[in-house]
Amino acid sequence: MRALRLLKWKSDPELVEVPDPVPGPGQVVVRVGGAGACHSDLHLMRDFEDGLLPWGPPFTLGHENAGWVHALGTGVTGLEEGQPVAVYGPWGCGRCVRCRIGMENYCDDPGSAPAPMGGGGLGLDGGMAELMLVPDARSLLPLPDGLEPATAAPLSDAGLTPYHAVRRSWPKLPPGSTAVVIGAGGLGHVAVQILKATTAARVIAVDLRREALDLAVRSGADLAVVSGEDTVAAVREATGGLGADVVLDFVGNDATLAAAVGCARVLGDVTIVGIGGGSLPVSFFSVPYEVSLQTTYWGTRPEFAEVLDLAARGLIRPDVTEFPLDRAQEAYRLMEAGELTGRAVVVPGR
Ligand code: NAD
Ligand code: ZN
Ligand code: ZN
Repeated sequence: MRALRLLKWKSDPELVEVPDPVPGPGQVVVRVGGAGACHSDLHLMRDFEDGLLPWGPPFTLGHENAGWVHALGTGVTGLEEGQPVAVYGPWGCGRCVRCRIGMENYCDDPGSAPAPMGGGGLGLDGGMAELMLVPDARSLLPLPDGLEPATAAPLSDAGLTPYHAVRRSWPKLPPGSTAVVIGAGGLGHVAVQILKATTAARVIAVDLRREALDLAVRSGADLAVVSGEDTVAAVREATGGLGADVVLDFVGNDATLAAAVGCARVLGDVTIVGIGGGSLPVSFFSVPYEVSLQTTYWGTRPEFAEVLDLAARGLIRPDVTEFPLDRAQEAYRLMEAGELTGRAVVVPGR
């Protein structure tokens, strides 16, 4: 079969021929119906090198995936060939307490996981191929009625990651509160939808690009702000000078991190999701009193079930542009050039 593989760090991925995967005991091979192109893949192609991660190339890209059960390994029960499924992406050790409660994104023993702090498309072969090996059947969630794999695929990262970030801040988002989403791309536009679907907060979207802001507004944002030197002033003005209760930064460079803290209200949450390589000086007087600063990594399996439910009921709907596998490189080129809005999803069967 064909697969889009990252063959070495600091290179573009290549479409190459590889053997079809065969499921071992407890494993499942999925026929891929959609594999989302995440900006993290661009970081893998451009920013990473030997020694930074416990795993590395070569592997097949694509860490947000959905499809149909293709072949079951011995001992797998509760799934049928042809059944539509979404792949929960973080693959932990499966045995620690956190993995047992479905929090594999924060596995206590990542050294015993199939790829430490990685998964399919992150050290192991992912979904940018006709077939994908899923090492443990527990990573598959049946797709609810009404969800097709190509539209469900981005939910497993562009949906789940912002959902986790928003959900942990729910107590700070009562009616009358404001949330700011910096970077209204693949993750950010879904973050806006999740905020509108699950809270009564007013949502302000911040992006450099007009098309991204337009999508944010179509996704429910109450206000769109062009990112730049005036971002903080615009958010402060829109919040009566108080600042935003929750700021989610889906970029994470020096400028956006500074803006995120500048926008935050006393007692607020600032959550760093984007891995743009920035850093933020923190001291007693440099951030508003009692602001909580955190990074988040992906989300839990129970949260993924909640995301699928939101999507199946039409409460969130990622904006998807489909690409056949032989045009996957083009999707990344467009993303890098800032010419994509929403999420690009590679559909290998096209
Ligand atoms: P994307 O390319 O689809 O979207 C990024 C958006 O940010 C674009 O709309 C772009 O115009 C905008 N942007 C860039 N610079 C900006 C600035 N200075 N101010 C405001 N907006 C700006 O990317 P994505 O796939 O949504 O991923 C976003 C980030 O999240 C990436 O860094 C990615 O690696 C990271 N990520 C983190 C996790 C996690 O678990 N923490 C999971 C997935 C992705
Ligand atoms: Zn990702
Ligand atoms: Zn574990």
